[in-house]
Amino acid sequence: MIEVGVLELQGNYALHHNIFSDLGIRSKGVKLPKHLDGVDGLVIPGGESTTMSLLLDTFKLREPIKDFAKENSIMGTCAGLIMMAKKIEHETKVVPLNILDIMVNRNAYGRQIMSKKMSINLKLNNELMPLNSTLIRAPKIIDYGKDVMVLTMLENSPAAVMQNMHLGLSFHPELDGISIFHELLFNPSSKYYWNNLNKVDAA
Ligand code: GLN
Repeated sequence: MIEVGVLELQGNYALHHNIFSDLGIRSKGVKLPKHLDGVDGLVIPGGESTTMSLLLDTFKLREPIKDFAKENSIMGTCAGLIMMAKKIEHETKVVPLNILDIMVNRNAYGRQIMSKKMSINLKLNNELMPLNSTLIRAPKIIDYGKDVMVLTMLENSPAAVMQNMHLGLSFHPELDGISIFHELLFNPSSKYYWNNLNKVDAA
């Protein structure tokens, strides 16, 4: 049985455990490098990327997570997506992990007060899955490399992207009880598991 780690340095990690428990997948908190031992994947949650970047260094997790990403799937939501980027526009305080070949602009969907639910169309195996999810001071993906697959668009920008076995989301599926992305990345027995899919229709 697989077990997925959820990075618990800061931010909105608790609800990811609920999604895993709904899916019958074991999850555990990751606060130190040794907590990555034996887990099969990692979620980097939303929160505040400036703080998360500092804490990654404080707890000496930066290199262990980069190494972990060579063999295991990582999913980042919102601040987690920022942390997974290769580059962040106009930013010096956040040092990203360079796991996804994307450039992001932090807070580009607007301030906290502009937080909103958006409808999202995801198409997997030719099935259309309309979702309603939440953006909170969300990052926009403003550029991406040729190996990045766009799963869904919002306001003319990619809002869910996959590269190899990694997934980055601008929005917060865990706030809306949406489990399909956790299933897509971490549930090998699902027909929606990334490695079992016949087809992910690019947005
Ligand atoms: N704007 C935050 C940041 O830059 C991300 C917000 C979020 O994760 N909901 O880190």
